Amino acid sequence: MLYEFKPVVMIQTVIDTHNISKIYNPTTIPVYAINDVHLHIERGEFTALVGPSGSGKTTLLNLIGGLDRPDKGNIFINGEDITQLSANELIRFRLHNIGFVFQSYNLIPVLTAKENAEFIMLLQGKRKKEREQRVMQLFRQIGLEEKWNSRPSQLSGGQQQRVAVARALASKPQFVLADEPTANLDSKSAFNLLDIMALLNREENMTFLFSTHDQRVIERARRVITLVDGKITSDTAPAAVNTSHTVPLQQS
Ligand code: ADP
Ligand code: MG
Repeated sequence: MLYEFKPVVMIQTVIDTHNISKIYNPTTIPVYAINDVHLHIERGEFTALVGPSGSGKTTLLNLIGGLDRPDKGNIFINGEDITQLSANELIRFRLHNIGFVFQSYNLIPVLTAKENAEFIMLLQGKRKKEREQRVMQLFRQIGLEEKWNSRPSQLSGGQQQRVAVARALASKPQFVLADEPTANLDSKSAFNLLDIMALLNREENMTFLFSTHDQRVIERARRVITLVDGKITSDTAPAAVNTSHTVPLQQS
């Protein structure tokens, strides 16, 4: 008997929030920072979270990243409900599963670029050789091989943020959350950072969810989710977003 061969497309959900809400000041004047949000992110996405200031972007990223807990609903990361974890379990889960990039880089001033990039792997107990190989490979990808012995104060903002991206990816998390990663960067450095994130998204199939205000950054996303007053008001299909223009990788 002949069977027809059908290629199977593996779709793997990495982030799945079930009707989550975060309410500040519940007993006085309640603020629904996140209001009944249902969000589904598949592995390999390159997705922007947009919306006016105060719309809940940081709150949502902090909930998904396990830095904060929802008042209602459940958050599944790779199938595991992180709302059920104890405080210690959550710390451990974050360390091994989630990469973070913050607006203000958050590098440790006394460590070199290389030591900063290795830092999460060090906390995970990875051996020196593995750490160095991984970080060296990432520094080639982010174009900073020459700078790996420099301290953060000797690097430009764009370079520091690239090190922060390398640090987030070095430990091979399930996904990377970036809260307004380009907010402190000039246009050239912002584009450069996005190019590097897009490259790592392609080459490592790394899932990125990043919040931004910047229209030029939004144009690089493959999916754009808009939040207003803690609710998702639009969610474009990946193909609907223009990704046709890219600029060559630049050093800054
Ligand atoms: P965004 O990142 O989109 O600017 P935020 O997630 O920071 O939005 O804030 C969403 C809403 O929640 C805002 O109305 C903000 O004032 C409120 N909020 C955020 N954090 C707190 C907090 N710790 N206490 C009280 N209200 C907060
Ligand atoms: Mg914010």
